[in-house]
Amino acid sequence: MEFGWTKEQQDLRKGAISFAKRENPENIEELDRESRFLAERWHAYAEFGAQGITAPESLGGQELDFLSCVAVMEGLGYGAKDSGLLFSINAHIWSFVEPLIIFGSEDQKAKYFPGACDGSIIGVHAMTEPDSGSDAFNLSTTADLVGDYYVINGSKTFITNGEIADVVLVFVKTKNSDSENDKISAILVEQGTPGFTVSKNITKMGLRTSPFNELFFEQCQVSRDNLIGEEGMGELIFNHAMDGERAFILAAQIGLMEKQLEDCTDYARKRKQFGKAIAEFQSVSNMLAEMKVNLEAARMLVYKVGWLKSKGRNAYQDSSIAKLFVSECSVKNSMFAMKIHGGYGYTCDYKYERQLRDSMGGLFYSGTSEIMKNIIADLLE
Ligand SMILES: Cc1cc2nc3c(=O)[nH]c(=O)nc-3n(C[C@H](O)[C@H](O)[C@H](O)COP(=O)(O)OP(=O)(O)OC[C@H]3O[C@@H](n4cnc5c(N)ncnc54)[C@H](O)[C@@H]3O)c2cc1C
Repeated sequence: MEFGWTKEQQDLRKGAISFAKRENPENIEELDRESRFLAERWHAYAEFGAQGITAPESLGGQELDFLSCVAVMEGLGYGAKDSGLLFSINAHIWSFVEPLIIFGSEDQKAKYFPGACDGSIIGVHAMTEPDSGSDAFNLSTTADLVGDYYVINGSKTFITNGEIADVVLVFVKTKNSDSENDKISAILVEQGTPGFTVSKNITKMGLRTSPFNELFFEQCQVSRDNLIGEEGMGELIFNHAMDGERAFILAAQIGLMEKQLEDCTDYARKRKQFGKAIAEFQSVSNMLAEMKVNLEAARMLVYKVGWLKSKGRNAYQDSSIAKLFVSECSVKNSMFAMKIHGGYGYTCDYKYERQLRDSMGGLFYSGTSEIMKNIIADLLE
């Protein structure tokens, strides 16, 4: 078993840290307060290669193996202040670019790549509906085949990138002509298609610079060529996307946890109370120790998924373990960071309350902690 990064992966990580620091907005507090997405930063990250990190070079991507992707994402998370932007980019990669690479037709790839890599096309997937969240496949949105067109009716909610997406991979129920049973299928719907509308941004607790919307489909007609794969392949496409997304969407969070720990250690060694540095109080040093253990264990779980997927192996249970552990530890470490900074940590002048709010999103997106536990338990041997 090899635990070290290659020289190339170390360089990728360092490059990602420098890039993210250079691109940091001056006014992240204001952007967060106003729930503002920065389109120009999206383009800068695309130029750096983030959006096409997994895509084949022939489609305009970087074609990095999964472990190298983790190294880059960790570096970006370490250097970046705007976790919402990183979250939006990750949603684009894991829920749109990846399924399109694996299941898209040559025509679909030609249409949406290299735009999906160079930043000119933003994508995401839409599964969640007002009445089906954790029970995702119990969805109600339908797509009826009429001649050469699907007619889509229904609505989706909590959709990352909704208002900025040029194209959405929408999960629907299609009725197979050979059977009476509805099947889950995945269909591409472009912004501007008649019958497709998007709500205004839904204000949320954290990750506020990442747009969050409802999508509505009313007699929305798209060509049958927009179907990804075949009718009935929706569950397979969704599960494949989740297999990677659950672990890798949180790789950036690991970088953030590392930076957070460095900052807290530094602060605890400088801040004096009762005549000595607060790091000398065991209750404080215990918090730092727990942060370190959480960070290192979280790392190993994500790296394992990177390794499994680089070998082409199934990672469904491992990615759920990683998702559960990293998201929960990220919240715990943000709480520790606030406590170590005392009253300052609670103020909006410091970044820790924002980091706590941002990290809380991880308990819900890509499946809640409770659903991760169900998956892990169901797959026990
Ligand atoms: C920041 C963010 C971004 C998101 N982005 C997207 C996106 O881009 N696309 C998309 O399709 N969706 C997205 N979602 C939606 C997300 O996938 C859902 O919120 C999530 O799956 C939970 O569904 P729900 O909110 O309807 O909660 P519910 O399913 O109603 O769950 C409510 C509570 O019941 C618990 N629960 C439900 N069923 C069980 C069970 N069987 N066992 C134990 N506990 C259970 C849950 O864990 C939770 O605590 C996003 C959500 C967030 C917060």
